[in-house]
Amino acid sequence: MSSVDRMDPRALEVARACKGFLDEEEGMRLHDLARACAPIGPIVEIGSYCGKSSVYVGAGTKAGGGTLVCVDHHRGNEEQQPGELYHDPDLYDPEQGAMDSLRIIRRTLRDAGLEDTALLLVASSTAAARLVTVPLGMVFIDGGHSFEAAQTDYQRWAGKVAHGGILAIHDLFPNPDEGGQAPITIYRQAIASELFDELPRTKTLGVLRRR
Ligand code: MG
Repeated sequence: MSSVDRMDPRALEVARACKGFLDEEEGMRLHDLARACAPIGPIVEIGSYCGKSSVYVGAGTKAGGGTLVCVDHHRGNEEQQPGELYHDPDLYDPEQGAMDSLRIIRRTLRDAGLEDTALLLVASSTAAARLVTVPLGMVFIDGGHSFEAAQTDYQRWAGKVAHGGILAIHDLFPNPDEGGQAPITIYRQAIASELFDELPRTKTLGVLRRR
């Protein structure tokens, strides 16, 4: 089945045009996982930025009859600050002296027809985790890539995945020459916890099912 047949075509068009760092094959995998997991419980995404992945996950969640919570403080991660490798000057607000991706993601979700089912939680991962206490259908971790940020996301969120639900982690690079090691470190921790079974990966997207 082609992507267009699997996903709402309007949402797919928005996802393709949106700024961000997600391969379409990874996006479609997230879409399908979210659709399958939506009946289990709410879906949570950690690190939404401009909403590219939120649209794939959100369209899948909507198709499955569920709700997505997009967690991000919208101040950019450590690699997106001025002077850093992934800094985008379009997202810098000189009046606030800070990054601000919130206005972009609002428009992204509106354009994709997801305003009613993909909810924005403008908060740090830690603050958001205090509010979310129901078992989750899926958690997708794609937040800060420092060891500290990834560790926080893992510690705060992995335990919230419902039995049978999915923990997905983006940016796994088994070869350290190809990318940062924080995401794959928490992926390995999740396997070592014996709480999850490994499912096939899609490119750099790791997928684990809660036992
Ligand atoms: Mg990523």
